[in-house]
Amino acid sequence: MTASGRRCGDCTLCCKVMAIEELAKPANAWCRHCKPGRGCVIYDDRPAECRSFSCVWLINQLLEDHWRPNKSKLVLTTSEDGIEVRCDPGVPDAWRREPFRSELQQWAISGETVDTTVVVIVGRRMTLVTGEREFDLGIVGPDERIVREFEGTRVVNATVVKASNLDA
Ligand code: SF4
Ligand code: SF4
Repeated sequence: MTASGRRCGDCTLCCKVMAIEELAKPANAWCRHCKPGRGCVIYDDRPAECRSFSCVWLINQLLEDHWRPNKSKLVLTTSEDGIEVRCDPGVPDAWRREPFRSELQQWAISGETVDTTVVVIVGRRMTLVTGEREFDLGIVGPDERIVREFEGTRVVNATVVKASNLDA
């Protein structure tokens, strides 16, 4: 059990949506070691990436119970930019359901004042959620970055550029 008092229980969704480099497991495909809804069959010998992983729901009670990943079909993690929401590709519109869509929008509004983002990932496509709209960013590669344009703290445009172009 974690400090939040929560357990994964019958949830195994991260074993589908997350990529595991050590196993060459792509994102959005069940790990060959996962029994969906049951758990990991190599639990004691699972890779370090799996040992160190916790989704936000598991460790943060501020995220309410309805966000439980196997019920919401959404796995939340944090990055240096903000919140990443990985949607079960089998239920690609899960993030548009209520109350999830409205809560994501509220977080995006709060995030604009402290420069953090809310990004939804469905399959390989990313969508930046803002208080007023959503920006379909398409497929964002590991060598690419999201660049936002602002009017005040309001995001008015978002584009994807090569990281090397930003460094130049
Ligand atoms: S998605 Fe979260 S709650 Fe579900 S198995 Fe992974 S860490 Fe546990
Ligand atoms: S090795 Fe186990 S914990 Fe890691 S992704 Fe596969 S099933 Fe999940």
